[in-house]
Amino acid sequence: MSSKKQHLYNPKTTEYEFLGPIGAFLMITTLPSLMYLLHLGCQPEGCPSSALVNQLSNPQNFVQFFSIENIHSLFDLQASIAYVGYLSYLVLAWYLIPGRWVEGTQLRDGRKLKYKENGFRSMLLTLSIIGCTILFKGHEPLLFIYDHFIGLMTCSIIVSFSIAIYVYLVSFQKGKLLALGGNSGNIIYDFMIGRELNPRIGSFDIKYFIELRPGITGWTIINIAMAAKQYHDLGYVTIGMILVMIFQGWYCIDSVYNEPAVLTTMDITTDGFGWMLSFGNITWLSFLYPLQARYLALKPNHLSWLEIAIIISLQTIGYTIFRGANNEKNAFRNNPDDPKLKDLKYITTESGSKLIVSSWWGKARHINYLGDWIMSWAWCLPCGFNDIFPYFYVVYFAVLLIHRELRDEEKCKKKYKKDWDRYCNLVKYKIIPGIY
Ligand code: NDP
Repeated sequence: MSSKKQHLYNPKTTEYEFLGPIGAFLMITTLPSLMYLLHLGCQPEGCPSSALVNQLSNPQNFVQFFSIENIHSLFDLQASIAYVGYLSYLVLAWYLIPGRWVEGTQLRDGRKLKYKENGFRSMLLTLSIIGCTILFKGHEPLLFIYDHFIGLMTCSIIVSFSIAIYVYLVSFQKGKLLALGGNSGNIIYDFMIGRELNPRIGSFDIKYFIELRPGITGWTIINIAMAAKQYHDLGYVTIGMILVMIFQGWYCIDSVYNEPAVLTTMDITTDGFGWMLSFGNITWLSFLYPLQARYLALKPNHLSWLEIAIIISLQTIGYTIFRGANNEKNAFRNNPDDPKLKDLKYITTESGSKLIVSSWWGKARHINYLGDWIMSWAWCLPCGFNDIFPYFYVVYFAVLLIHRELRDEEKCKKKYKKDWDRYCNLVKYKIIPGIY
């Protein structure tokens, strides 16, 4: 890209999100600490444990929490070797497993990038390896993950920060297409939000790979390991744990099965790749999302048939909305003239894009978020009501989705201008039909 063109395609970012540099700094420093807090502070006697409550309520003890010995105990050489081995395996699987090359949406410089679609096969290979391990060696090898959980998480934090630093630095090379929201010139903000839109090493797209591989696969493996731990302690796996494994495992497998659907999401089309997506997808997803499975490994909970029925119903309703809406939009974005979509009503905008105004997308502007949030309840309820930590996920996820909806709304307002107002008049609700 010539420097004139580069200037044209990479305008300066003039508006901040996430409270700007201060918000970015707070996210970078507090979110990793929050992960340690949620995991180290969850013990068989309580989540939060009385030790954590004591530490947080007494400033002297709180400082002790950050003592050299405590920090040292977060590092684990064996876990680091295992984690780096795991990541190398995933990269190798991406290279070696055959897959279709699919086109992404058009970039603002007119290009369309190609992405290798082999996430589902990579997941199947991983699950087969775990299956064979259990078959031939029993569940014991999986206990390594439970025993070295904190060390694995620490290594993953280091990896996600390292990748974020790398992509930030290479984004200054000539010819890079930057994210419209990541070129403010403020180091902390741009590092956090992501500067370059599609950092690549050859045909290896870092954002696309990280979006659906290390985190989603890691989450699945950790859940299985937590069930192995429960089996080790009890001699059986509780129904609550089985439900969490099936629901979350389904979510993970479904997302890699529908891998091309990620190409029309905000993460891929709009956001730059920086610390937020690196940490979010590598560490937060792998180590925070198995919170319920880890809780149930520590504190098994027994469910009544009524509770089981309610939980399964919530999951079914949530999934139907979530997958139905996402597939509908994805199919429409890929080929609006597909005969299968002939009954969909839409409006045509000046930008050339069409917006669906019927079916799922006629009910609320982000009906897919509602489905996702309903599912999050089905994932937490198997933990019962003795402790609050497992419910961190529903609260955090509601905040994430509401904030994400506001961000997407901003983006669409800018893109579609008065057409967006016309669309909002036709589809009045943001997430919950009739309510919000
Ligand atoms: P969406 O998949 O909803 O994508 C939003 C984009 O879709 C808009 O920017 C617009 O892009 C397009 N769009 C909006 N309205 C319409 C319409 N009526 N017709 C056609 N296109 C429309 O958002 P996300 O990328 O945020 O989320 C994708 C999924 O991922 C969701 O189900 C969400 O719940 C899930 N998710 C899960 C997370 C987790 O941690 N588990 C985190 C974040 C998301 P354009 O018009 O430019 O094409």
